Amino acid sequence: MAMDDKTGNHSAEGAAAPAEPGLDFIREIVTGDLSAGRVREVVTRFPPEPNGYLHIGHAKAICLNFGIAQEFGGRCHLRFDDTNPAKEEQEYIDAIERDVRWLGFDWGQHLYFASDYFDRLYDWAIDLIKAGKAYVDDQSQEEMRANRGTLTEPGRPSPYRDRSVEENLDLFARMKAGEFPDGARVLRAKIDMASGNINMRDPALYRIKHAHHPRTGTAWKIYPSYDFAHGQSDAIEGITHSICTLEFEDHRPLYDWFIANLSVPSTPHQYEMARLNITHTVLSKRVLTELVRGGHVSGWDDPRMPTIAGFRRRGVPPEAIRDFIKRVGVSKANSQVDAVMFDFSVREALNKNAQRRMAVLKPLKVVIENYPEGQVEELEAVNHPDDEAAGSRQIKFTRELYIEHDDFMEVPEKKFFRMAPGREVRLRYAYFITCKEVIKNAAGEVVELRCTYDPASKGGNSPDGRKVKATIHWVSAEHAIPAEVRIYNPLFLDPNPSSDAATFATGINPQSLEVIADARLEPSLAEAKVETPFQFERQGYFCRDKDSTPDRLVFTRTIGLRDTYAKDVAKDTRESPRQNAKA
Ligand code: ATP
Ligand code: MG
Repeated sequence: MAMDDKTGNHSAEGAAAPAEPGLDFIREIVTGDLSAGRVREVVTRFPPEPNGYLHIGHAKAICLNFGIAQEFGGRCHLRFDDTNPAKEEQEYIDAIERDVRWLGFDWGQHLYFASDYFDRLYDWAIDLIKAGKAYVDDQSQEEMRANRGTLTEPGRPSPYRDRSVEENLDLFARMKAGEFPDGARVLRAKIDMASGNINMRDPALYRIKHAHHPRTGTAWKIYPSYDFAHGQSDAIEGITHSICTLEFEDHRPLYDWFIANLSVPSTPHQYEMARLNITHTVLSKRVLTELVRGGHVSGWDDPRMPTIAGFRRRGVPPEAIRDFIKRVGVSKANSQVDAVMFDFSVREALNKNAQRRMAVLKPLKVVIENYPEGQVEELEAVNHPDDEAAGSRQIKFTRELYIEHDDFMEVPEKKFFRMAPGREVRLRYAYFITCKEVIKNAAGEVVELRCTYDPASKGGNSPDGRKVKATIHWVSAEHAIPAEVRIYNPLFLDPNPSSDAATFATGINPQSLEVIADARLEPSLAEAKVETPFQFERQGYFCRDKDSTPDRLVFTRTIGLRDTYAKDVAKDTRESPRQNAKA
């Protein structure tokens, strides 16, 4: 458990075991501001830069900002920080809006863009120049970097630092008019080249960029820096609690300097929290962009991506993400959350809501020799064991079936209780069957089982109290529909994958996608909708993928029933008579 340094609150950040957090330090501050009357209405914002899709780290910021607004009766703005046209695209703006909505949040009328404030920001820059607090610097990027100093050495003032106000105004106007090429000049704040905080050593306010902006087109040839735009955008919108991640803590004195030196309409205060980090997961937008651009994944919504769009396509419900974020909590200590914790929230949500179906991933044919040829029996199967309202459906039983290949062993291991020569098992919802003969192909592989059934065991009930040690799932060979099933494994096997854009690719798991080409599904799954999860009994949770065509169904595994690390343990419980009695 991480201990918050400000309030002594405990939060679950970094803990592997799920926990319900209490009031986090930000909510405590909000509570205090409201009760002391320092703030009348809480106004927060989520400020994404539209240069990529949202990921699970953003979900933390979204749940926090929108959550606080909801809980305290305030409002939360969605503001695009669109100050860098080189990397920003309309596709990302649309995707971000879709993803925030899907997560369950609503900004109402409060959709804003930093680019809406370009005129005002420009005027404020002029005000700074006129006050002798900003100047145009002609140094190259390299010179500026070399003169910035280090943590232990002060910076060197630019030779252009003492330009007259008139000259600065003239040059800045010409920068705006597009007279100079990219990088030729920048507008800098004139603060303190000897400051112990490097952010205060005359930071850049405006850069020349001849680029097309998704919203302002080619109207602007200069763009404000993130630092210059961010706090002032908050001030314009009347943000009361401006929440960001810890790496911006050192920028706060600069933001406060802008607010103190400009005639802004309000004075927001910034609070910093820890970024969300998860094992086996890279949350660097640069790396995620590279994964897409380099073709390592199929797109931003590839089910292996830690993006909201990827989770949605994989069948993860939004409530699972919200639940996970709640368990993670909010703290000021950077740490890493175990991916197992995310899986826990996903399984919990799916177990509650996903309807059950039967599907055979690796089919093995079973012929019931004493079952009449051509006969079709309708059997009743429940849709959810804990939810009667979910109802039931009819499934068809026939002489030829498919069972899971893994549910048969010709020479069973010690703890293997499922199908084997001479053994009797229960077919879920159907009958007891006994394996009489094993048929192999020329290569010696098992291709078919010849079985008999006990007509007195209809519904899977023992006719005379005799017990079977396993219940297995099945589908009717004639009625089942073929499908491709995609099993996604972690994209990175290393718990701490590199987020270096140059080297991350070496850590990609070559087995991150397993394609099962010929699974057989219960017919009702033909009508499944994309993103609607189902539990394939004994296999895990799956949903129809958008790659499905009228001729070919594709299902994606959302998650297995249990943690794969615990697989061996799971096998034992799966076959225990107690479990089967329930099934
Ligand atoms: P970059 O700025 O490098 O493009 P970013 O991840 O900061 O990447 P933004 O679009 O600026 O992306 O992020 C929007 C908001 O989401 C910011 O307030 C940021 O602090 C927050 N955020 C981003 N990543 C995380 C994370 N891993 N954990 C918590 N909050 C995050
Ligand atoms: Mg950012």
